[in-house]
Amino acid sequence: MKNEIHIIYGTNPIQMVQELLEKAKIAKDLDQGMSIALKPNLVVAKPSYEGATTSPFIVEGIIQYLLAHNYKNISIIEGSWVGDRTPRAFKICGYEAASRRYNIPLVDLQKDSSQEVMVKELSLKICQKALETNYLINIPVLKAHCQTLFTCALKNLKGCIPNSEKRRYHSLGLHKPIAYLAKALQVDLNIVDALNGDLSFEEGGNPIRMDRIILGKDPVLVDTYCSSLIGYRKEEIAYIKMAEQLGVGLADLTQTKFFEYSTELKNKVSFQPSKKAERLAQKVEALDACSACFGGLIHGLNRLEDSGKLNKLKGEILIGQGYKHQARPGLGIGNCTSGCPKYLKGCPPSALEIVEFLKNNLK
Ligand code: SF4
Repeated sequence: MKNEIHIIYGTNPIQMVQELLEKAKIAKDLDQGMSIALKPNLVVAKPSYEGATTSPFIVEGIIQYLLAHNYKNISIIEGSWVGDRTPRAFKICGYEAASRRYNIPLVDLQKDSSQEVMVKELSLKICQKALETNYLINIPVLKAHCQTLFTCALKNLKGCIPNSEKRRYHSLGLHKPIAYLAKALQVDLNIVDALNGDLSFEEGGNPIRMDRIILGKDPVLVDTYCSSLIGYRKEEIAYIKMAEQLGVGLADLTQTKFFEYSTELKNKVSFQPSKKAERLAQKVEALDACSACFGGLIHGLNRLEDSGKLNKLKGEILIGQGYKHQARPGLGIGNCTSGCPKYLKGCPPSALEIVEFLKNNLK
């Protein structure tokens, strides 16, 4: 089963995911009484139609399937990015309502204790609740990422680490710790929300309808397949290769068995590419920038463009932990760039603060 990928097409996520779980015979893997944790992607407090977060209807469909098979020890676990609060994301993304409806607890991993795990020479802190669960169901969104290009199964595990670690991961270049985390934290099942993920940016805003849900047990294989769906070769995503080398899974689509369901709905899939976020990022010199910081800057640049002022911005804009303790010419965004002659304080600063700062420094 590790070399299988199951794909279903359609627009009714509750029904789709239940059919997918039945077809893949997932109930056979579970034992009565085992704790089951559902880990969606709620990186920001935005509804899933904006392209950043996991549809609550997918999670609802999984809960219905588990309850129907008499598995009741279920929780939903997540830690949003450092720029947001998880309870806010639970509420705005529709998980608070689902939790009440099914009496399933929500666990904020930003508040959880953590345990240190060594993978080779790298020490990683991982949230206790994620480590302790008997069966971890990873439910990422398939979308692009402004720094790693692509985010899906492997990168979604970053929600299972404390906020201090999230900052450290950026200073380590993201790819290596993402791959190592997947080695330390075993995922039993991946169910990918590929309904409406963002084309260019992990924070949403350019959602692209793809109307499918993908299931697989091997997160490396799932990511290899899913990255191809948004136009990347696995070699372009460094953490996929690293995870494969660590033995997390196999990135070989030639040995994969594909199962497709409701294929008649494929023809209805629409795809409208937009390269807006990527084009805006070309104005920035980023070095190990945290997503929350970088995302705010892209939003700020977007706002400047909306007001017709983007082309008045001259000189370099620097952002990221790589500029710490460096005296550099240009405009700095965030505390890490305090060596710039002009920089904006904050860790991370808000997009609104960034817009004001940039407007005050137009030529
Ligand atoms: S200033 Fe920005 S890049 Fe630096 S640590 Fe804070 S959030 Fe990360």
